[in-house]
Amino acid sequence: MNKNIICHHCLEKVGVKKSDSETPLYCKRCKKSLLEAKTVTANTRILEYFLTHSDLPLVVEFWAPWCGPCLAMAPHFEKAAFAMALEAQFLKVNNENEHALGSRFLIKNIPAVLIFKKKKEIARFTSMRSSKQIQKWVKQHI
Ligand SMILES: [Zn+2]
Repeated sequence: MNKNIICHHCLEKVGVKKSDSETPLYCKRCKKSLLEAKTVTANTRILEYFLTHSDLPLVVEFWAPWCGPCLAMAPHFEKAAFAMALEAQFLKVNNENEHALGSRFLIKNIPAVLIFKKKKEIARFTSMRSSKQIQKWVKQHI
């Protein structure tokens, strides 16, 4: 089965076959590895783009630069994004800059991590968690 994912480096939409998951995979545009996944900084436009074009579940963290637990979780979130390449795509929303998204998704406490599957939010947590805890939680929901 073919799946569309969005390149974490250049945001090109790339079709991936299930059988590709164990071979090196490169973006057809920027030629970087799709397995070297990283978090993508999202605004409304980028989040909509992922919701519309990625066939993978999206894990979206709302955070702010003044929030200690958010900063503490940042490397863990990044590590989870890398570990779960081709399973889920990880995005970060700066809640200070993106008020429209914060109010649309009723973000009251940060860090807030939401999972979207087929454009719908299916779960969220609002606390600092380790990379392992994040991955375990995502796997429970996807
Ligand atoms: Zn690319």
